[in-house]
Amino acid sequence: MKKKIYEGKAKIIYKGPEPNTLIQYFKDDATAFNNKKKGQIPGKGVLNNYISELLMTRLSDINIPNHFIKRLNMREQLIRKLDIIPIEIVVRNIATGSLVKRLGIKEGKILSRPIIEFYLKDDKLNDPIVSEEHIIAFEWASHNELEEIISQSSRINDFLTGYFFSRGIRLVDFKLEYGRFWNNDEPAIMLADEISPDNCRLWDLQTNKKLDKDRFRQDLGEVDAAYKEVAYRLGVLSEKEFKKVLKNDI
Ligand code: C5P
Repeated sequence: MKKKIYEGKAKIIYKGPEPNTLIQYFKDDATAFNNKKKGQIPGKGVLNNYISELLMTRLSDINIPNHFIKRLNMREQLIRKLDIIPIEIVVRNIATGSLVKRLGIKEGKILSRPIIEFYLKDDKLNDPIVSEEHIIAFEWASHNELEEIISQSSRINDFLTGYFFSRGIRLVDFKLEYGRFWNNDEPAIMLADEISPDNCRLWDLQTNKKLDKDRFRQDLGEVDAAYKEVAYRLGVLSEKEFKKVLKNDI
């Protein structure tokens, strides 16, 4: 029996087999609007596990350190244990979502430069937007850590924008989380969490069809089909393999 450490909305974290490791389990559960809307997307956990494995591995290839160690099975991956920094980093290339609502910017406007925003991870407060000043003054991260987070997020955006573009997908915006990895008493900033259609907005390059969790948030239908489409385009899971997954209900 694995020891459960934490259960979130879309993932469960278990104690890992070795010191400083954890097991990240991907659920099919989907929530939106801070848990007000709840549902299930069949097979989502498996697809996100594979998609995140691929993207985290590609980021390691270009020297962006992250918590992913290896995929263990259809729904689980072994990760490094980090001290999670309680800030969500949102990177935007195209105006949509809360940016459009908050500032009245035209939906779909291509931004003149990517925007990086910070939100405090606190469900009770509805994840409020915060500034760099808040982050440093309240010691959620140090000045140097924040510089590193901004620099890594910007590299990740440049890399992923090109990666998705080559597969016919526009990377509209996405959310990242970071933690501190302790190595010889020296904490280093390291990318955590997952990168998947749960926390990225992905639009088809030709039609602008939404291929991400907005299909669930906005009741657009074909939610699982959209996640599958992203998985196929990234080449992580064939149709045949995915059918097997659903049949065995892994
Ligand atoms: O809703 P908003 O426009 O602020 O979302 C920006 C990006 O961050 C979207 O890609 C969304 O999927 C992601 N996000 C997330 N988790 C949150 C809030 C936003 O993954 N709690």
